[in-house]
Amino acid sequence: MTRPSRIVIDIKALEHNFLRIKELAPNSKVMAIVKADAYGHGIVRVAKTLNNADAFGVACLEEAEQLRQSSIKTPIVLLEGPYKPDDLPLIIKFKLDMVIHNEYQIQLLEKTKIEGSINAWLKIDTGMHRLGFPIEKADAILNRLLLCKNINSRPILMTHLATANEKKNNLTQQQLEAFKKISKIIDGEKTVANSAALINFPEAHFDWVRPGLMLYGVSPLTDSFGHNHGLRSVMTLESEIISIQYLSKNEPVGYGATWRCPEDMPVGIIAAGYGDGFPRHAKSGTPILVNNVRCPLIGRASMDMLTIDLRNQPNAKIGDRVVLWGDSLPIEEVALHADTIPYELLCGVHKRLKFVERN
Ligand SMILES: *Cc1c(COP(=O)(O)O)cnc(C)c1O
Repeated sequence: MTRPSRIVIDIKALEHNFLRIKELAPNSKVMAIVKADAYGHGIVRVAKTLNNADAFGVACLEEAEQLRQSSIKTPIVLLEGPYKPDDLPLIIKFKLDMVIHNEYQIQLLEKTKIEGSINAWLKIDTGMHRLGFPIEKADAILNRLLLCKNINSRPILMTHLATANEKKNNLTQQQLEAFKKISKIIDGEKTVANSAALINFPEAHFDWVRPGLMLYGVSPLTDSFGHNHGLRSVMTLESEIISIQYLSKNEPVGYGATWRCPEDMPVGIIAAGYGDGFPRHAKSGTPILVNNVRCPLIGRASMDMLTIDLRNQPNAKIGDRVVLWGDSLPIEEVALHADTIPYELLCGVHKRLKFVERN
């Protein structure tokens, strides 16, 4: 028997979430964000499914190359732009759009001779202070870009919000106001919204929205689940019970003997662990589904195994299906129990897992 742990990707759910995004932002084009192997879902699989996306957003050339080599013809935006002079010929070769966010990149464009020209997205820093030109420089930078032979047409104006996942944070209002101010001076297309802003701030939709997490059916807000926004979870991490122990009161379970049985009880051993991307920091009490019933994690997660309290499923047997997140068990909840965010769990799924698609 091969290892029963696997990732199930629900293709229909992915299609559904894309349509849901179109419903929420009906007047915007969609740049589907597929960086980090499409948040762990498989970048080629996701891009092939989302063939109605207006563009794909990736973090680096390697990801873009993977898409082009799989015959994906949709526009692809390099969200961090070129890192080095050698990137420019590859950007041309793979027909990529690029974000320009700092002086180094502008100079690169001004002094490098390349065959062909590139679509640029001009990123303005409205207050997140990660990537982007200061607001006061936006106009001057735009003019330099327009003079640059390597640039095609008018750059699309872009910014990123730091606190869009909170409904009331002054910083979001400040960022939006700053962006609207430069939007008035600079015409052309504009884009601001990640998933959180797409849900929380319709006034931030502009010409393009840039959803990542929501595509995968997960809520970007800490006080809701994907299904609260009409989304369906795409990834399920599932495994099976491979052994059951009947332990006596006070017997310890797992490494460090950190958890002890409060009474005589059945304990299930599951064939998945942090070597698959399940968070080692998940606390005892993290919900795990056995035959669709919640059974809490107990003791420490190990590399290939987890131990769970089977008192809610006393008749469970070896081979029974277990869901660690996804179908009927929101990943948002697992993330909370592990002091992390769903983004990190999704990106961290290990490639040793079998990936299967459900249509
Ligand atoms: C990752 C990323 C997004 C998508 O963010 P989500 O929170 O996953 O929706 C949007 N825009 C940029 C520039 C990004 O880097």
